[in-house]
Amino acid sequence: PTLGAGERALRDRARQVIPGGMYGHMNVAAFSAAHPQFMVSGNGATVVDADGREYLDLMCSWGPMILGHGHPTVTAAITEQLRHGDCLDGTSPVAVEYAELLVDTIPSADWALFCKNGSDAVTTCVTTARAATGRRKVLVARGAYHGAVPWCALRGEGITESDQAHLIHYEYNDLGSAEAAAAEAGDDLAAIVVCPMRHDVKRDQELVDPAFARGLRTLADRTGAVLVLDDVRCTHRLDLGGSWEPLGVRPDLAAYSKPLANGQPLGAVTGSDALRDAVGSIYVTGSFWTGAVPLAAGLATLTELRRGEALPVMERAGQRLRDGLAAQALTHGFGIHQSGPVQMPMLSFTGDENFRLATAWAEAAALRGVYLHPWHNWFLSAAHTDEVIDDILQRTDGAFAALR
Ligand code: PMP
Repeated sequence: PTLGAGERALRDRARQVIPGGMYGHMNVAAFSAAHPQFMVSGNGATVVDADGREYLDLMCSWGPMILGHGHPTVTAAITEQLRHGDCLDGTSPVAVEYAELLVDTIPSADWALFCKNGSDAVTTCVTTARAATGRRKVLVARGAYHGAVPWCALRGEGITESDQAHLIHYEYNDLGSAEAAAAEAGDDLAAIVVCPMRHDVKRDQELVDPAFARGLRTLADRTGAVLVLDDVRCTHRLDLGGSWEPLGVRPDLAAYSKPLANGQPLGAVTGSDALRDAVGSIYVTGSFWTGAVPLAAGLATLTELRRGEALPVMERAGQRLRDGLAAQALTHGFGIHQSGPVQMPMLSFTGDENFRLATAWAEAAALRGVYLHPWHNWFLSAAHTDEVIDDILQRTDGAFAALR
């Protein structure tokens, strides 16, 4: 058995009182036999499971931990804000200060609105686009994940046809297919929703073709549709100003979440002046949307990121990891493909049907104290120093050897 007594006991209890023992992406059933369902703590680039086993973390909580687990500056901001209050009758002033900093950091942003997660943020963008245009149709890339809400959910159970009646699909990086989808929408096209790169689960990642990004911008301008960038997964990780800023393609609306507040629940929508009235006209809110602690954590995270050290650390760590894994695969005789930005790596094995090799390798890595995923991209944080990467590589070398 690879799982300890603590983990097994928790799984038994969870099966009684939590649907499926755990629901959603946090269910590790399809992951590997060695991956724990439960984690009890995190520090820097390390997480600890319910049996006290330590793992060097390559998932970063599936994206949120951009500065590392328990970053002292963010923890201090959380503690300080908690002394004053979190969920109050009115919005905390920290919301204004943080919105100012976001608008100052993101060139396409003239305003910011806060929510709790990525689904909220993308949904708010779509509602705003419909309010602005008075139109209904929304273009989305086939297979792209925008959240677990009925209008965009990727799986059918419990979703009615009418929930997604106004979606039209295009193929990512295929401008012709987006133009055809826009033509199908005709004069009812409200929004073009797009992720900064193709990071659909269970396939290699694909960077955006800059011509495709520019083409969508032109298509939105020509049709009067709103260009919505779903930057939830990357947010500040690739570029503080938004993932398409290096391309010079600016969205009308953008959705952010995962790493905004280094693990505190927070989402954000930013937009241009042209959409200020439209976003003001829709009714969006939530009991916890302006909770002050996550906002203070967001402010502290962005302030830390703006010091300029974190992004280069992640990029350097990612390159070191990519180079090391490539060399190990070669040495051990495995064909692998590494895709996506180095800060958000994805590794697949050549000809690996149903991810059997990847799952076995991830299991071997977990047994050696490295937490990574066989068919979802990983994430690096500012806590991933050269030493951490070298420690990880030493263990993955053992995992490749075991796979042989
Ligand atoms: N959009 C993208 C691109 C995402 O990766 C995710 C989360 N994986 C979402 C939207 C939804 O975010 P959340 O899970 O916070 O609702």
